[in-house]
Amino acid sequence: MEQQNRPRKKKYRILWHRVIIALIILIALLAVVIWGIVSFFSFVIGLFSGDDDSSSVQDTAASVSSQEESSKIEIPESSSQPEPTTGLKVVIDAGHGGNDVGAMDVTETRYEKDDVLKVALLVEQYLEEKGVEVIMTRDTDVFVSLNDRCTIANESQADLFVSIHRNLYEGEARGVEIWVTNKRYEIDTALGQNIMNGLELAGISRNRGVCFGYIGMPNKNYQVNRETDMPSCLIELGFMQDDMDNQLFDENYEEYAKAIADGVWKTATDYNLN
Ligand SMILES: [Zn+2]
Repeated sequence: MEQQNRPRKKKYRILWHRVIIALIILIALLAVVIWGIVSFFSFVIGLFSGDDDSSSVQDTAASVSSQEESSKIEIPESSSQPEPTTGLKVVIDAGHGGNDVGAMDVTETRYEKDDVLKVALLVEQYLEEKGVEVIMTRDTDVFVSLNDRCTIANESQADLFVSIHRNLYEGEARGVEIWVTNKRYEIDTALGQNIMNGLELAGISRNRGVCFGYIGMPNKNYQVNRETDMPSCLIELGFMQDDMDNQLFDENYEEYAKAIADGVWKTATDYNLN
């Protein structure tokens, strides 16, 4: 009798290697989907949160567009930047930018944001020539919120922070003033004083002094002085509505930048920061 082939029982073998591969693919897909959802929601939250400057104190002109869109925090890196040769790290903060033009002259054609960027870029150059690592809160005409300026400074863990502005006053006023925190820290005050000494030699209409706190409110502080972790000062390079201050600025802005860089360097040297 011919041996009959027994009908083969269909066998359901579990192919473990396939199961594992399928599981890995599934987990990877899930991870991508979850990442997508999280990114989407953080983007949406970012859109609606904005910057709440309502509780903060700012300089007169900085408040103009503090409620406007918050910009992405990016620490600009320039490829042409020379390698720092010292241990000193300094943040240079050019006030305003983008649609926040800052103070204006009487013709309303000259903007604080442009004047201060011009000086800030030169300060960067002079400090880099000394081997200092410089972090710019902006190096183009863009809006950066006050919160982001402080975050950039604190995340960079810089040694010193210098904010550059020009002043606004509805009336007659002229001269240069430098603001430091009302806590009157020694290094902050020295930083302001060293810069002011240089600016006075560079040619300013009036030395209005190193001031503590906030204009008219000595118990408050400018946000960039209050919320930065390192010694800081805010320079007001003359009044935008004053012809003499504008003329002196145009004649001497390179000297102003040099004075700021030298003041930073002297302070760093005196307090062993470099
Ligand atoms: Zn300003």
